Amino acid sequence: MLSYRVNLMFRLQKIVSKAMIEKWLSKNKAAIVDHEGKSDIWKLFGAVEREEKVISNFVACKACKKVYAFKPIDGTQSLRKHNWSAGNSGPV
Ligand SMILES: [Zn+2]
Repeated sequence: MLSYRVNLMFRLQKIVSKAMIEKWLSKNKAAIVDHEGKSDIWKLFGAVEREEKVISNFVACKACKKVYAFKPIDGTQSLRKHNWSAGNSGPV
């Protein structure tokens, strides 16, 4: 049974795309929740949760809901390049 569940989760992960998550967020079918971690970047970005499950390998800006592909091993460099001055309410 366990292997069946892991298999299913793997398949679900593969079909999730950034565009889908942005669509879910815009329709309130997904929510941005606090991400674990010590970095102050997690005050600005959060994990994305849909149907009470956190979607792995993606994070979203709490201010403008832009979605980024994110793996912990890649670090937060790409998130720090996020454009806060594009008219949204994010910190500079
Ligand atoms: Zn933003």
